[in-house]
Amino acid sequence: MNVYDSERMAETLVGYEQTDSPDDADMILLNTCHIREKAAEKIYSELGRYRPLKDANPDLKIGVAGCVAQAEGEEIVRRQPLVDLVVGPQSYHRLPEMETKIQSGARALDFEFPEEDKFEHLAKRPKAKRGPTAFLTVQEGCDKFCAFCVVPYTRGAELSRSAAQVMDEARNLVERGVREITLLGQNVNAYNGHPSGLAGMIWDLAAIDGLDRIRFTTSHPNDMDDALIEAHGSCEKLMPYLHLPVQSGSDRILKAMNRKHTAESYVRVIERLRTARPDLLLSGDFIVGFPGETDEDFEDTLALVREVGYGQAYSFKYSARPGTPAAEKPNFPADLASERLQRLQALLGEQQRATQDAMVGREVSVLFEKPGRQDGQMVGKSEYLHAVHVADSGAEIGDLRPVRIVESGTNSLRGKPI
Ligand code: SAH
Ligand code: SF4
Repeated sequence: MNVYDSERMAETLVGYEQTDSPDDADMILLNTCHIREKAAEKIYSELGRYRPLKDANPDLKIGVAGCVAQAEGEEIVRRQPLVDLVVGPQSYHRLPEMETKIQSGARALDFEFPEEDKFEHLAKRPKAKRGPTAFLTVQEGCDKFCAFCVVPYTRGAELSRSAAQVMDEARNLVERGVREITLLGQNVNAYNGHPSGLAGMIWDLAAIDGLDRIRFTTSHPNDMDDALIEAHGSCEKLMPYLHLPVQSGSDRILKAMNRKHTAESYVRVIERLRTARPDLLLSGDFIVGFPGETDEDFEDTLALVREVGYGQAYSFKYSARPGTPAAEKPNFPADLASERLQRLQALLGEQQRATQDAMVGREVSVLFEKPGRQDGQMVGKSEYLHAVHVADSGAEIGDLRPVRIVESGTNSLRGKPI
């Protein structure tokens, strides 16, 4: 979602062009993540690195956007007085006015949750040609309040964009060369801007000529309704890949996390999805070392991973976040959390490897996104979101072609054109 927000923020700053190097910049806007402590702390060291740039170019403006800005706005300016602008994730439609303000030498801070919806106030997206894949935010915020998570506090309450707004933006993207759209939301399957929910939105999008692939992320197990499960079986444009976080395989820990589902109910949802779409590739999120997690709880997580079988997954050590209920609980021993994370990642790594190896010999379709490192090589994604490298593909960026997988590497596959 930060990638999407960064695109939209850059579009609001008329009169600027993007540069890859901070040395060339007249404005540096850091978009930040507050989900774990490590990500949040990184921005202070990053900001420190800009000090010499600001000394060399007194006109350089530095801003902080995103969820760290939302959560720690005042602290950012206190710890790093070189910051000119702080803008929360729901206020970035106000960037043009804020930019005018900082050009006059004042500081601009905005991290209130605004009354208005930023999407209603952002200028129309430009018409310039762009790459074949794009993100499109359809839902933001969260009302679920998992005990460990800052999202409900930094992104605010659940809010869905209207179906008409989503259709408009999708059409704009397709006109500009996009063939694959990933619908985004912190709880994307709680989307209610369409009378038939996310499934209804997906079916409407699937009717757009020139849009070939639809994905969505991130979903919550409790919001996987019948229509969405069914769409995985019947909507050809909906890709057979699903990221469905579970966090833990222990019901005791799930309860302490306030997840409002059990390991069993999660597995049942997966079973129904796989009945609808047998080749669905599953991804997930896991947290180890949540306060009070026993050996037995952790074994339950490993057992759930073995039962489900993931094609890939993300796993994290629990990070205590200020203001969340879990942060009040006693700390978990860091060494034990690291050891568990290693064991979990070893198992998930084996499953990822096995899933990739099983692709060898299969025919997939690849949407080509960029040239590879070797001459004549192109790289794209299969329907299962595997990166596929193809030599002498004869394909151009944006082509969707059948490919036979011939080799499975560490994090990608190699294929031959068919
Ligand atoms: N809405 C999604 C997840 C959004 S946050 C869901 O409910 O599943 C993305 C992931 O970051 C979470 O799934 C979780 O695994 C991880 N995460 C969130 N807060 C965390 C914390 N305090 N410590 C460690 N990992 C965390
Ligand atoms: Fe965070 Fe997801 Fe839980 Fe919401 S549902 S509080 S975003 S982990």
